Formats: sequence, C-alpha cells, structure tokens
Amino acid sequence: MEHSYSRRNFLETSIIAGAALAAAPHLLASTPPAKPAFPVADYHVHLSEQLSIEQALALGKERQVQIGIVEHPGPGYPINTDADLNHYIERLRKYPVRIGLQPVYPGWSKAFSKSLVDQLDYILMDALTLPKPDGGYLAIWQIDTMVDDEDAFMTRYLQFIEQVLTTEPIDIFAWPTFLPVPIARQYSQLWTRPRIDRILDLAQARKIAIEINEVAHVPDENFIAAAKRAGLKFTFGTDARNQNATHFYYCFQMAQKCALTEADMFVPRKK
Ligand SMILES: [Zn+2]
Repeated sequence: MEHSYSRRNFLETSIIAGAALAAAPHLLASTPPAKPAFPVADYHVHLSEQLSIEQALALGKERQVQIGIVEHPGPGYPINTDADLNHYIERLRKYPVRIGLQPVYPGWSKAFSKSLVDQLDYILMDALTLPKPDGGYLAIWQIDTMVDDEDAFMTRYLQFIEQVLTTEPIDIFAWPTFLPVPIARQYSQLWTRPRIDRILDLAQARKIAIEINEVAHVPDENFIAAAKRAGLKFTFGTDARNQNATHFYYCFQMAQKCALTEADMFVPRKK
C-alpha cells in the first residue's frame, strides 16, 4: 500500500481539478515566502526508491533543513516485528537525522517491545484512517471518499481524533484538520470553535506538537494562531518521498503570517 504516495497523487489531482485552489491561494502569488530565521526541519520525510537517505540528506544540506525520517509500521508495511524495527533504527542511527515512525492503525504499538519503541526519537500519527463500525477502515484522504452527512462525519472524525490523541503513543499530530474532498470547501464552517478547542485541549494535555502539512495545506492560519495562543508547538512536514522533501512554501507562509518563532517549534530529542 503506497499510502502517502497516493495522498500526494490525490493532492496533485485535486489541484488540477481546482478543488484545492481555495486552500492554496499562493499558487497565484509570485514571490515565495522567506525562510524563517530559526532552524528549520522537515520531520515528515519517507525514504523510497526515489529518495535514498543520502539523497534526502543532500536535499537537506542544500536547503539548510534538518530531516526526520518516518516509516509506517503494521500490516502492508515494512516494519512488523521487533527485528524489523531494530534494523530500521540501527540503519538510520549512522546518519544525522531524527528517527520517527508514522503509524496508521490504532493499537499498532502492541506488536513491538516498549523498550524498542522508546528508542525512536518521535512518533508522528494522523487521524485519516478511520476505523469503520463493521470492521475495515475509511481512508479519508482518498479522492473518492463519500460524505453523506457533514455533521455526522465530523462527529465520527472528532471521536477518532480524540482516540488518537488520548490513547496512542504520539509526539506529533500530522495532517491536523484535513477534510475529505467533498467537504474541503466547508473547512471554516465545519471546524467550529468548540471542535478546534477540543483538539487544542487534548494536544495540550499530552504536549503533542501540531504538524503544519505542506502537501495538504493544513491546518489553516486560524487554527495555527489559536494553537500558538494555547502554547502548543509546531513542526513542518512535507510528507514527501521524493525531491519535494525539505521543500517548503505553505509552512513558511504560515510561519510568517502567524509570527512563529524558534520557541514555537517542536524539536524531538535525539536518543
Ligand atoms: Zn507520511
């Protein structure tokens, strides 16, 4: 399952279709936003056939961006046993990168020894793969996701976000507030103040950082400003598995608009 790769395909498709234009006004602007004055990191980089660790490091060096590597654990992905996880960590320890994991399914950590999971520098998780009541999952980043009733969807989505933020081992909440294509244009109506505050409260309770996601352009400026006021910390993430790694536009734009400083940024401790 080429999970994140498909997400990127989805976004490119929807930009072409014009669906994401409302959330991406910079596509029409000319000058790119300046790089922030503080040290910048991309904590959402996937290695792939198109991106080796050496290539990722070269991009980071060229763009002066630190790197955090993530991989998915669980069925359908490369890391399924303690031996797999140990090998993944050992292999990356030789390089000047932070080592992360991006679980997709809740409960994933039961398959691994806690002492091994604790060796990771960070865990980044999103809430885009919603468990269905009858088993199976609804991947809401997929372009064909159907939403019959917006409010019912939001209730169910928020319940899953609550589950992820309260019961999972997590340092960074990725793709926060992303909405499926059919309701993406209703972002500001559907992300009501109480819904935003619920996420901020839960993130604050466990000191979970908020990812500003380059590919999906989430969360929006309003959410970032509220999260900053609540004292939450942020990371930038491209979710790239190619040359787009470490290449920021939306993240820099939000950093500028919301006046983010070094103190607002989350830096995982290297273990
Ligand atoms: Zn990812």
